[in-house]
Amino acid sequence: MILVAYGTRPEIIKLFPVIRELRKRRIAHETLFTGQQTDLYEDVKDLVPPPDVSFAGSFSGRAKHNTLGESFLKICRASERLFARRRFDAVVVQGDTTTAWALAQMAFYNGVKIAHVEAGLRTFDPENPYPEELNRTLIGHAAEWNFAPTKRACENLVGCGARNVRNVGNTIVDAVDLLRRRRKIPVARSNEVPVTLHRRENHAIMGRLFDELDRVAAGNPDLELILPIHPNPNVRKHRPRLKAKNLRVIPPVGYLEMLRMLARARFVISDSGGIQEECACLNKKILIVRETTERPEVIEMGLGKLVGGKLLPHIDWARNPSGKARQHPFGNGRAAERIVRILSRSLMKAK
Ligand code: UDP
Repeated sequence: MILVAYGTRPEIIKLFPVIRELRKRRIAHETLFTGQQTDLYEDVKDLVPPPDVSFAGSFSGRAKHNTLGESFLKICRASERLFARRRFDAVVVQGDTTTAWALAQMAFYNGVKIAHVEAGLRTFDPENPYPEELNRTLIGHAAEWNFAPTKRACENLVGCGARNVRNVGNTIVDAVDLLRRRRKIPVARSNEVPVTLHRRENHAIMGRLFDELDRVAAGNPDLELILPIHPNPNVRKHRPRLKAKNLRVIPPVGYLEMLRMLARARFVISDSGGIQEECACLNKKILIVRETTERPEVIEMGLGKLVGGKLLPHIDWARNPSGKARQHPFGNGRAAERIVRILSRSLMKAK
């Protein structure tokens, strides 16, 4: 029995192709929602079947926003109880969230093998992104299977002695392909500029970032900036700083709507990891509002620019068309198929 664990929006988006593939091949599996991001769960929960196991109850009560330690401990305690009760052959975790690391650590302590999806992304700076760089490094050491999304991620893993490193591509490409095909989402060019900002490292400068966003909108009246605002109070509290008429603040949107927005964008402003990859898939330029990125491939393709906390000096670059679509290095949309094939064969051999 395989357990697929997720707790946040990006994990659901990047794991739904894996869950779909497990179902298609009729491989015994169950899904677990840890409840880490209950507020964004509603927006993406339709991508996956209802979870077989949920720890969301551990997150109910007054504290809507838990500290990292509280989230970690809640997920660890609930996982420990689950592993005491149930036997799993493998646990699939994705990326670098608290959910992924808590599950991986508890699985390791309980002798359950770990499959890490999107393994090997590194900035080699433990403060950036925080705490994700540490989470994914630790998971890489604990994992039995390291499913890397790119050649560079493979090199990062091999260099530190990680086991069973396979370059399978990123499941985000599967997700984008599947939804674009199913819902016929064309790539177009409007004057819309989707913006997302939420990273913990940016919380201290979020007020200044919002002021600058407002100046970008005021100085470029032909553009329409759209900000699906993150529910984190450290982001939301700066909402009143945004006054420009052509800057629309909306609640977070479902994934299908997000893909539609990205597909018709003039360019994108974001500190998100997944959105950098989606921009590569959709041939959109992106101003990456971070000091460093574990996805340097987007910059090498000429689609991404690291802008730290400054937006205004880079708008001219972003406005210019990105030109002919280039081949991106994130895979060909068959990552989930490869992951499930490798995993099921290894588990069969072990029996
Ligand atoms: N996303 C979404 N709705 C939104 C904002 C983002 O569906 O309102 C998607 C986005 O397209 C990407 C993922 O959420 O696939 C990124 O999540 P987030 O930025 O929270 O995490 P990160 O990728 O930085 O880990």
